[in-house]
Amino acid sequence: MAKEVSQGDNHASVKAPPEPSPLRKAKFFKANMRILITGGAGFIGSHLVDKLMENEKNEVIVADNYFTGSKDNLKKWIGHPRFELIRHDVTEVIGTLNVLGLAKRVGARILLTSTSEVYGDPLVHPQTEDYWGNVNPIGVRSCYDEGKRVAETLMFDYHRQHGLEIRIARIFNTYGPRMNIDDGRVVSNFIAQAIRDEPLTVQLPGTQTRSFCYVSDMVDGLIRLMEGDNTGPINIGNPGEFTMLELAETVKEMINPEVKIVTVENTPDDPRQRKPDITKAKELLGWEPKIKLREGIPLMEEDFRQRLGIPSNKN
Ligand code: UDP
Repeated sequence: MAKEVSQGDNHASVKAPPEPSPLRKAKFFKANMRILITGGAGFIGSHLVDKLMENEKNEVIVADNYFTGSKDNLKKWIGHPRFELIRHDVTEVIGTLNVLGLAKRVGARILLTSTSEVYGDPLVHPQTEDYWGNVNPIGVRSCYDEGKRVAETLMFDYHRQHGLEIRIARIFNTYGPRMNIDDGRVVSNFIAQAIRDEPLTVQLPGTQTRSFCYVSDMVDGLIRLMEGDNTGPINIGNPGEFTMLELAETVKEMINPEVKIVTVENTPDDPRQRKPDITKAKELLGWEPKIKLREGIPLMEEDFRQRLGIPSNKN
């Protein structure tokens, strides 16, 4: 029920957010969970599906358009009685709006995986959640950055106006098995290049930094956020910060010491530095990443070698 909070005759009355739908308190939600994951055939989404399917009380529905995701990532669940896969397109901002509408209708809790890109090319370092960011609204990466910023806005509007239970994770660069091999992200590029014996392409200047979180840590953080009481936004990422040159050197040393490192042109508006402040995640979720970059790289290498059909000749 919506409550009116009166501030006296001479003041406008302020509307308190309505209670979440009674469905949220229904028996089904206490005993069982029906979880919809949009983008569940993708890299992070499919790892989240694996983890959630371990719990027998969870029923998981994936909606994915397969633009970047793949059925292959979910093949072990296809046909499982607690699993359903739907080919469906939810485009970024409009997608969030549609899913918010659905969550409102059925009284579901909703988690948005937002991004460190909301901080743009950050002037505050490391980035805390209260930093509003430095985003070029008309640049080449703006549609992603601003799309996620609008998605966060919509989440909070639905929370304030309709009492929706929201959670917002700002996820930082994530890597691990099942990452797309050829979509141009830096860790996947370097690992694939090292395995194929091609030069590692460091985009200039090479001193720009990123902080890389292994996918199992990421999934653990997302689940804790979803299960806890805090709306967020909360940064989920690994604070270990590396320049792209350092990353290239590490991949070279670990996978192929013979490989060349070359520098190439960069794209405009590339953030110069990025590192999460994870104080909030530690305090509110009891979460921090466990897997260091040097532990994660070999796990990803193994997966890439299998998918590329190039076995290691180390032994
Ligand atoms: N990068 C690079 N070589 C590559 C691909 C990317 O040096 O082959 C750099 C890129 O310029 C950026 C960083 O790696 O500074 C991370 O790029 P990515 O696209 O992986 O993530 P994002 O920029 O979205 O954080």
